Amino acid sequence: MAAAVRVLFDEAAIDGRVAALAAQIAADHDEPPVIVGIRNGAVPFMMDLLRALPARWHPDLVFDFLDATSYAGSRSTGDIRLAGDLVVGVEGREVLVVDGIVDTGRTMEAVLNHLRGKKPSQVRVCTLLDKPSRRAVPVPVAYRGFEVEDLFVVGYGMDLDQRYRGLRHIGVVEDGA
Ligand code: 5GP
Ligand code: MG
Repeated sequence: MAAAVRVLFDEAAIDGRVAALAAQIAADHDEPPVIVGIRNGAVPFMMDLLRALPARWHPDLVFDFLDATSYAGSRSTGDIRLAGDLVVGVEGREVLVVDGIVDTGRTMEAVLNHLRGKKPSQVRVCTLLDKPSRRAVPVPVAYRGFEVEDLFVVGYGMDLDQRYRGLRHIGVVEDGA
């Protein structure tokens, strides 16, 4: 059985930030950027973000995913593996990279290095959660939903050994998980 989760951000709080981020992204771009999600953690956030972007963008929205793995259980290995690659081309395009959380920044650094090799005109980072106190490498975060302290969070895409991703809220697993 899954242990109890202490809620940090409930569904309404998340929805409010997603709407605000979408409005900010819309204001900053003349045309929809290519949206690149970091699987698996970014998926629920990215799907809600896509739907919150202006309806006039929806016919032209292009999105794709990169697979990045840096964690075994709840501990960062610091060893970032990127599996697979984009199907869509991003050369000369504006790109928005979406992840659920930027922690040490190593995953986003690896993703940004990979994407820059494809010669996009611009790459911006959007993360729902940002843990700046944990940063080991600098990451230019253009859009952040919430800043969080140094806690291991789960829910809304974020897992502990693949569990809790389906929660509609974000929280901390209480002892005995
Ligand atoms: P970083 O490379 O920035 O240290 O870590 C980024 C990735 O580590 C995130 O995409 C996420 O998969 C995982 N991660 C970092 N912090 C947390 C956390 O508090 N909870 C969960 N579930 N995953 C985290
Ligand atoms: Mg991840």
